[in-house]
Amino acid sequence: MAKRIPRKDVRKIGDERVSILTRLACEAVRDGRDDRARRYVELARAICGKAQTEMPRDFRYCKKCLLPMMPGINCRVRLTGGKITSGCACGEVRRMPYLKEQRK
Ligand SMILES: [Zn+2]
Repeated sequence: MAKRIPRKDVRKIGDERVSILTRLACEAVRDGRDDRARRYVELARAICGKAQTEMPRDFRYCKKCLLPMMPGINCRVRLTGGKITSGCACGEVRRMPYLKEQRK
């Protein structure tokens, strides 16, 4: 029987691998290798599920085509009345409110 690894160690290893994969995914987009970028995001998501960790907060990717969203390269960012609108090249649009900043 395989030796059980404590959950916190699994999480640590998972986080490490996810951070490597997200970095590689961003590099792949910069190099124009969208196919690779998609595969990296796919793997990172699979690891997140298995290791019960979360994707890094600052890493944003399209939920539809799994490409990392990089403003200025493959993603369009606009401010539309209280919301940040990020549009992916595949047509998917995500809106995030920025209420906190508005209240100031
Ligand atoms: Zn997309």
